[in-house]
Amino acid sequence: MEDCRQERAGRANVLCPAECTRPGTRFMRADSASSIRYVTPDLYDRIKGYREEFHRYPEISWTEYRTSWQIAKRLRELGYEVFIGADVCEETTRMGLPSSEFLQECERRARAEGVPEEMMRQMSGGRTGVVGVLKGGSSHESGGDADTAGTGGGFAKESGRKCVVALRFDIDALTIEEERTDYNADYRSLHEGTMHACGHDGHAAAGLGLAEVLAIHRKELCGEVRLIFQPAEEGCHGAAAIVDKGWLDDVDLFLSGHIGISCRKPGEIAACSGGFLATSKLNFHFKGKSAHAGKAPGEGRNALLAAAKFTVDAYDLVRGREGVLVNVGKFVGGSGRNIIAADAWLEAETRGATQTQNQDLCGQVIETAQDAGRRYGVEVEAIKIGEAGTGSSSPRIARACKAHAREMGMEAGYQEAADFGASEDVTLMMERVQGRGGEAAFFMFGTLLGAEHHHGAFDFDTEVLGVMVEFYARAVMGTFAR
Ligand SMILES: [Zn+2]
Ligand SMILES: [Zn+2]
Repeated sequence: MEDCRQERAGRANVLCPAECTRPGTRFMRADSASSIRYVTPDLYDRIKGYREEFHRYPEISWTEYRTSWQIAKRLRELGYEVFIGADVCEETTRMGLPSSEFLQECERRARAEGVPEEMMRQMSGGRTGVVGVLKGGSSHESGGDADTAGTGGGFAKESGRKCVVALRFDIDALTIEEERTDYNADYRSLHEGTMHACGHDGHAAAGLGLAEVLAIHRKELCGEVRLIFQPAEEGCHGAAAIVDKGWLDDVDLFLSGHIGISCRKPGEIAACSGGFLATSKLNFHFKGKSAHAGKAPGEGRNALLAAAKFTVDAYDLVRGREGVLVNVGKFVGGSGRNIIAADAWLEAETRGATQTQNQDLCGQVIETAQDAGRRYGVEVEAIKIGEAGTGSSSPRIARACKAHAREMGMEAGYQEAADFGASEDVTLMMERVQGRGGEAAFFMFGTLLGAEHHHGAFDFDTEVLGVMVEFYARAVMGTFAR
């Protein structure tokens, strides 16, 4: 980022990553034909097109109707068995569902934007997300030597059982108003107040690009590939419901990744060995009783006061402690100046360097809210609406994937063990796979950014999507190599 700023010093209103990161100028179309096996220029253009399309129509958690439609449509064209609606997520563990009024409003918009009625019927009520399944041409019956079988080789295979590889791509956007920059004019968000500011538009596009590569090489797949397009990652709402539906139960190799985060240079790929912060997302409703603030304040029970006391006390819980964080990020309460507030609603979160630290803190925060409620005679309802754990890439996979980076001419930028430094509900999927004897890895893919993640001027160089698809394709095909 520094380099390109210097390069364009003195040129007003030009932000990264405009010209110096114009897609396709360095890696994908440079004289590197030998390092690119799967992502042809045509495919790269299609991936870029998918990304721009997703970017124009961002949809937040559990409202990814149009996005899911686009994904399902393309997967069907490519010959995948496609699962949508209630087949994707476990109904009861979908956390943080928006109100039914909001869901209906988004459904109306999706219909107006062309989503067919038959698909809307299956998805309505926040049943978004897509799983595409591609079954290959043969099995491991001949007993290929697993240890020489590339990325996923070496995991235990029962005789004759086909191996299952799953990849996860998150697809949701954020409630952020996109800034007008001079590089996003062609694909700026058409949904007011909503924006793909975390790169999940890119993740979804990479998933479709990979889908195409794998469909072309279907005969070489001796097993099954599952492409999981997960709704509701922001807020850590969606992964648990996909895990609970069983999609990860028999997976031998699981891969996922994120654009940027702490990889900020093109050519960097890092396997995350840790640094995932375990987190819980909590909603609180403080229920008091209204009263006349001048005439009879003593007859009320002040929900706003209890919520304010809790907010201050919650931050005190983590003062001076290492590895734990708490935040109360939204506070809505009361109904008018001269009324004792009957209700207050708070959105809070806890984070911890370990699962235990987070769970302990989460318990303490809920207890603190109850204490504040008791002090002012206010009832407190606490609901957990999101969750993520800690996670670590299987070292063998992180090591094996270095070969793919090497073949792509990116060995110098490859890290086997990096810290993620944020929270990701993909950890729940990794945990399920690794807990059942499979292996999992999560990668960060380097790119220049227009602004930080979750910022209105966030953008990235789409070239990173070509890198992602090429890397994943090599990892998956390597797994099935015999
Ligand atoms: Zn995000
Ligand atoms: Zn993200």
